[in-house]
Parts: sequence; structure tokens; C-alpha cells
Amino acid sequence: MNIKTQVETKILEYEKQDTEGLLSYISDIIDSKGSRWERSVESEKCELTKMLIYEYVTSLEKLSGGRLSSKFLVDKLASRLHTLRYGSFRKGQDDEIMYGNRSVTSEEYNKKRPGAHTISVNEDNVVQDAVVLFDGRQIGFDGRRLNGIDFTDLDDIRHTIFHEWTHVMEKSLIPREKLSSDEIIHRDGDSIYINSSASADFDSLDYYFKYIEEAEQNSEKPVLFGGVSTIEINPQKSSRRIMHNQISEGFTEYIARLVMDKVGVKTRDTGRYATQVEFADKVFKNRGIESTVTDYLTSSNIIISELEKGKIHGTDLLHYYQHIESLLSSVDRTAVRFFGKEADLLRNQVQKFWENPPTHEEADGFVNKIIEEICAKDESFSEQDKNMTHDMFYNAIYFPSIKKEYIDEIESHYKDKKMSINLITRNALQNDSEHRVGKNMVESVEAQENENIAGTKEKDGGKDK
Ligand SMILES: [Zn+2]
Repeated sequence: MNIKTQVETKILEYEKQDTEGLLSYISDIIDSKGSRWERSVESEKCELTKMLIYEYVTSLEKLSGGRLSSKFLVDKLASRLHTLRYGSFRKGQDDEIMYGNRSVTSEEYNKKRPGAHTISVNEDNVVQDAVVLFDGRQIGFDGRRLNGIDFTDLDDIRHTIFHEWTHVMEKSLIPREKLSSDEIIHRDGDSIYINSSASADFDSLDYYFKYIEEAEQNSEKPVLFGGVSTIEINPQKSSRRIMHNQISEGFTEYIARLVMDKVGVKTRDTGRYATQVEFADKVFKNRGIESTVTDYLTSSNIIISELEKGKIHGTDLLHYYQHIESLLSSVDRTAVRFFGKEADLLRNQVQKFWENPPTHEEADGFVNKIIEEICAKDESFSEQDKNMTHDMFYNAIYFPSIKKEYIDEIESHYKDKKMSINLITRNALQNDSEHRVGKNMVESVEAQENENIAGTKEKDGGKDK
């Protein structure tokens, strides 16, 4: 069945359940966006966007246990999503959307683009996002097929767009007075973590130092959080800037899969961010799925702070995995640099250890042999290089056990910490200054509070399944 027929069938089905006029509300919003939001993939003239928004918001309403109403979610998407494209960005119309310092309609951008992308757009000092799903049939300048989505497969479109929209929806503007300074800037050893989505100038460290100074001097500006992404500045190590977003990718992908599930579609491509999703699963299940969906989409600062309070091997729980991930990619770079064509062989050897864990002597022997070989190839390889390479490969070999240890740590961190339903609802109400949660949510939290006052001394924690 082609996309058009599938979409039309689904919309007919949804019209029957839609007693509140949500579909026509969504239609009006799409109309108001004019050519900024495309309605469908080019070859299929149908209301694809309308169907997808309906599925996305009604699923999230259920997943949040009714704390986030469909209408609130449509409004948030409408105010945050600047541009929606299927296939490619539009020359002439999207030239001003920049990724780093290149326009998204430039040749340079198109050479290296991913299969789908969410990009911040700064217009009149309001941060919004542009979302694009590229057509997987596009061929690059070198004649090779570019990354992209299968536009003949509705479920591939769903999976990708639910992921990208969650990147849009995870951003919330939190009033400064609701935040302690540690929630905005988190210091841990030599590292300074900027917990916001402060991405005005990607290359300028001065920008971040100024930001840190301002934040610590009680600036009044609300803070934009983006999922659980943070930026690490390390003044000790020549002021490097590191973006921490792997755990955030896991949360975003996890929510996309929950939505797929509610829509009644099986997620086939479970390879996307597999490890990160495992970590997210531990956080969502231990904290409560309804609470975590609600917090992630309205007050992700709360989750950031919680994870920053946990410790593993001297690093906090939010940033630990990103450090391991960078180690693994350094192993890759080192392998390619020193072993060229044999890099794959080396990678395979490392991965073999994942199935059959070596003894410490075996691992040590393996790592020392690699270092010896590198030293033979490069005389300038210093003592410090040797130590770093040793740690890198050692951690790569023990990755599965490191991963397990990390998952256990998340589990024990959240043990007995199921969130209070009222607290979560109140957070959602108070935070996200741009997007006030609907009136029915206020009523529901008031009703719950009255119920609690009216006798039942029962604590509200733990009710959230
Ligand atoms: Zn993503």
C-alpha cells in the first residue's frame, strides 16, 4: 500500500475517535505555518504531517498519564518547530538556516549531512528548531547513496520523525528563579558542566566562560535546557569544550520507541543508539515512565541534577558514559592511525574479548603488545602516550563489564526514588516558562492535593506505574 492510502485510512480511523476536535485543531496549526511546515513527502500529496502529529501527541498524553494534554503538546510543537522538511532543505527559502558556519542549502553541508537532522534556528532571539528528513534515494556528488529515510516506508518515517520531534520538544525554558546555581553550572573536579542548551556560538570558548560568569552572578535570564545534554568545559586541559549528548540521545530514542509502541507499530530498527537506550530504560523504569516522560518534556533540568548527584569511578552518572564513549572512539582513531589497513583486525580482536572476557594478565599482555607495535612504528611515542593508550584499550576490552556496572549504578541510584506524582505535576506547571501546561492539569493537581489533605495520609510516591 502506498503512503497516501495508508495515511488516508489512518486519518479516517482517527476521525472516529477524535471527540475533542484535535484533528481540526492540528489542521489549523499546519495551515498557519504556510510553507514552513511541509505536509507530506513530495511524491505523495496527503496529510502525512497531520496524521503524525495526531499520533505523536495523543501517545505522549497517554504516556505522561494525562499530565501533558494533547493540546499542550501541539502548542509546544507549534511554538518550537520553525521548519519541517521532507526530502531536503529548500534553496531560496532555507538559506539562512545555519549548521555551524554553513548554510543548510550549501554543497558543503550536503556532503556531510546525516539521514535526519534537528538544527537550532535563532530568529529574533527566539530559539526554535528546523527538522528535516532526507530522502534515502538521494545520490551525493561522489555518486554514492547519501544517508536518508526510506520514503516508501511509513514506519521508517514515523520512527525518525518521532525521534527528531522529541529533540524539539525536549527543550524547555526554565525561569532563573526556579533554579539553584548548581543546576545551571555543575562543577566536578577539573570540569565545569554547562547544563543548558547554550549554543549561541559553537566555536567560542570565551562565550562559554562569559556564560558561566553570568550564570554564577545570578543573571535573570531564563535558562534553555535541551534534554539532558550538557557542555563540558575543562580549563585545566587547555580549555577544551566537549558536548555531552549520548545519554540524551538514549532518552530521546527511548521516547520515540514508546510512542511507536502506543501507535501500535513495532520498532524494527532497534540498532539506533542501542546502548544509550539500555541506560535510558533503566532510568525510565526506576523513576517511573509517566514521570520521566513528563519531566523530560517540561523540566529536564530535574533529571540532569539527579544524575549529576550519582557517582561512579569519580565521575557523575550523567557524564560517565560520554567519557567511555569518547575512549572507544579514540581506540578507533588510534587503530586507524597506527594500523591502517589492519585497523579492522584490531577492532575485531577487541570485540572478541566482549564475548570471552580475558583475565587481567591476558588483557595486559594484549595491550602491551599493541603499545610495543605502535612504539616500533613511531619513535616519538612518549611515556604519557603509552599510559593513555593503555587505559584506552583496557577500557575498550572491558566495555561490557563497565556497561553492566554502570547500569547497576543507575539502578541503585534510583532505588526507592520513584517520583512523587504531585511533585512532578507541580514541576511541570511551574517550569517551562514558554509553554504553560493546560488548565486541566492545574485542576488535576489541585484535586489530588485536596484528596491528600482530606485524610488519606498515604504518600503519593510509588503510585506512578
Ligand atoms: Zn537524535
